[in-house]
Formats: sequence, structure tokens, C-alpha cells
Amino acid sequence: IQDVENSQKFEAAVTTDGVGIEVVCNIAKPQDAQSVLENGGEGVGLLRTEFMFEASAVEPTVDEQYESLKQIVSVLGSRQLIVRTADIGGDKPVSWLHMPHEDNPFLGVRGIRLSLRNEAMFRNQLKAIYQTAIWQHEQQVSSGIHIMFPMIAKLSEWQVARDIAEQVRRELNAPVLPLGIMIEVPSAALLADHLAKEVDFFSIGSNDLTQYTLAMDRLHPQLAAEADSYSPALLKLIDMTVKAAKAHGKWVGVCGNMAADPDMASILVGLGVSELSVSPANVPAVKLLIRSVAHAKLQEKAAKALQLGHSREIRKLYEDRSDLL
Ligand code: PEP
Ligand code: MG
Repeated sequence: IQDVENSQKFEAAVTTDGVGIEVVCNIAKPQDAQSVLENGGEGVGLLRTEFMFEASAVEPTVDEQYESLKQIVSVLGSRQLIVRTADIGGDKPVSWLHMPHEDNPFLGVRGIRLSLRNEAMFRNQLKAIYQTAIWQHEQQVSSGIHIMFPMIAKLSEWQVARDIAEQVRRELNAPVLPLGIMIEVPSAALLADHLAKEVDFFSIGSNDLTQYTLAMDRLHPQLAAEADSYSPALLKLIDMTVKAAKAHGKWVGVCGNMAADPDMASILVGLGVSELSVSPANVPAVKLLIRSVAHAKLQEKAAKALQLGHSREIRKLYEDRSDLL
């Protein structure tokens, strides 16, 4: 299997009935970009930008952020690069922000909530992103940069973030970049029909969406194993999200850990997700899986999964792969 994976890892992932699925990568620092290409990743579905903020004792300058992003696009060229704005807070504290103690940091000032409360920092990050797109333009490379906001829970958060991004873009006279949001808070999945009208894309953060749907801390030693992405409630939210996006002609990716598990990736593709973002090492196996199945069969199976009420039943359904052959 290793040899087959290796020989085919640079080929597109197309199901046996001709549906192409984008297989891209999650990365967390510029040095990871090379491994995306080495493993056959078609781009970056999630750049976690927290490294820029965690590493330094003071706020990084726009130039420093720009240099990091330039390093990444120098490797990726015009391939897709989804830059997620800072997802600080929750499990990702930053010393120089002097964040007040919170009893429930995962329910606190985290992700876009923190960026909107530190607008100068948010604008600086957006400036660095748009400057990188300008630089690509000057190099005559069409930019594959997308901007994505984490932890959106309300329509208004998206709209304020979008308006700030648009202002920054105009000030710099930068090219228009697709703007999307993470669906990782249940309220965003429930509002997906409203959000889908306005965003360019969704990316489902299944790690947080699972944690917030089940109200189980993703890092809790006793609950982490039970906070299971086979949860029927989670699948319903993903189904709603995809249906809303499709109704408005938008695409949906998944960048949580779920995307890298072959059985769960089968569920996601069956539900209509068109992009899976996984760690570089997982790309060959995910591509191999997609090439081995018919999309129509995955759709049928996902429809069955949506009828089940226990995660163990869904897990069992996917353990048996005979109906996919
Ligand atoms: C997620 O929540 O699924 C996700 C991809 O974001 P992070 O793991 O960085 O919170
Ligand atoms: Mg998350």
C-alpha cells in the first residue's frame, strides 16, 4: 500500500465515478510548506497563523508577518493558501496580549472575538495578508490566497470582519481575495443559510464543532475519547452546512482532524464536502481512499448514516466497507 500511495500521491483525487475532491493541508509554520508539495498536497486548506503571535514577546510587525507569508507563497506559488486570521484564546494563549483570566477560556474571548476587540492587531494581520497578494501580483503569480475567520458564531461577527478586511484591501489597493469562515460553533452551522449568501466558502472545523456541539472539552482527559466525530448531532450540522452552501453555489471544506480519518473522510465526501484539509503525511492515504470509491455510493451511505441516532451505529456502518466496493 505504501508503494501505491507513493507512486500516485501527485495525481488528483477523483472518485471512480469522476468527482474530484481537493486534498490540501493544514500547516502551522512556514517550514511546513515544503512538505505539502512533497506529499502531494494541492495547497493549504488551513494555515494556522498563531505561530506569528505566540513566538514573540511583542506583537509581530506587519513586515514580519508579511515575510512569513511570503516564505509560504514562495513555495506554494499560485496554489490555494487559506490563511486563517489569528485564533488566539481558548487553548492558544498569547503572553503579550495580557488576556484577563477566564474561567471558561473555550467559551471566552477567542478567535474572531479577540481580533474584533483588538482591531489594530486584526488590521495589521489583514494588511500583511493583502500585501502578500500584491507581492504575488507583482511577481506575475496569480494569488491563491483566501482569508478565513475562525470562531464565527453570529452573522454580525462575519459582517464586521468582512467590512474591516474590505477597508484594508481598498486602502492598499490590493486584489480581491475570497473571504470565508470556519464553521466550528454550532450557531454558525444553524445559521449556515444566512451565512452562505454572503461568504465565498466554508471550512468546517470539526475539532471545535464536535467539542461545542457535545459540550465536551476537546482536551479533557476523561471526555476526549467520547467527544467523537461520529456523533449523529455533528453529522446533522455538517449536512445542514453543506446543503446551505450548495443552495448558494459555495463550496465546503473540512479542516478538522476528522478529514484525515479514512472512514470519516468517506462520510464527509458523502455529505457533499469537496475539500479535505489534512496534515501533509495523511495526503497520500486520503487520496488513495477517494480514488477507490464511487461518489454516488458514498452519498447513499451518508444518507443512511443520517438516519442513525447513535455514534456507535454510524461507526459500525462505516467499518463495513463491502457496500462501497
Ligand atoms: C478545528 O477546530 O477543527 C480546527 C481546524 O481549528 P483548530 O484545531 O486550530 O482549533
Ligand atoms: Mg478550531
